[in-house]
Amino acid sequence: MCKSEEILRIDNLHVSIKNECILKGLNLSINKGEIHVIMGKNGSGKSTLAKVISGHPLYNVTHGKILLKNEDITHADPDYRAHQGIFLGFQYPVEVPGVSNIDFLRMAYNSRKKILNEDEIDPLSFFELVNQKIKNINMSPLFLERSLNEGFSGGEKKKNEILQMSLLDTELSVLDEIDSGLDVDALRDIADSIKNFHKSHNSLIMITHYQKLIEYINPDYVHIMDNGSIKLSGNKSLAIQIDQYGYENLM
Ligand code: ADP
Ligand code: MG
Repeated sequence: MCKSEEILRIDNLHVSIKNECILKGLNLSINKGEIHVIMGKNGSGKSTLAKVISGHPLYNVTHGKILLKNEDITHADPDYRAHQGIFLGFQYPVEVPGVSNIDFLRMAYNSRKKILNEDEIDPLSFFELVNQKIKNINMSPLFLERSLNEGFSGGEKKKNEILQMSLLDTELSVLDEIDSGLDVDALRDIADSIKNFHKSHNSLIMITHYQKLIEYINPDYVHIMDNGSIKLSGNKSLAIQIDQYGYENLM
């Protein structure tokens, strides 16, 4: 049997911001193709973890290591990590007036191609590719011509993040509360497109409270964070127990 390939390994990670310790000895290991859900009370450090994985400069790693495919990226800058295949889907995607969505997507796509030593794509071929992808997530092609996220509803912004993720074919995607602010139809579209995207080789970390999304996505692991570290790990049934009994009764 082949040994699974470890994409991300986090060892004893301690992170502080403004001298306050937020992550306190967090460990996590993710293999190629796995989906990990992270749950936990508000303020337990979930978003901090997502930002630290993507290299947000505000957070200070004071101890421990982050390895991406065995390479130490603990102190690598965010661009480098993005080029190596890490994607962070934002809880509140930013609006960028004046930059059309399709131009932004093509720029991001080509910059990844360049890193992978592959040919850039011409505007016409990209137009065909992105139109195919946008159909998969049930989003109108009209969104491609609009300014990036400007005036998009919460759900449309989230769909646009998923569009980016699937175009970039990122190896490790971290989705922080991608479900917040979605109606049931948008949630199903998002869940379906995540499932489609994941069919291949991509690993995912999903931060969510939402039982329904967890059921759709069917993750390999569910982890519960509390006070800056992962306190419990299990499978999907852990999420069901949390739903029934609450965090306090299980920790
Ligand atoms: P979660 O996503 O699990 O709700 P966060 O990672 O957002 O938790 O926050 C964890 C803790 O870190 C909270 O107490 C929060 O106030 C603190 N924190 C996070 N980011 C900052 C920041 N930029 N400045 C000050 N405190 C922060
Ligand atoms: Mg959060």
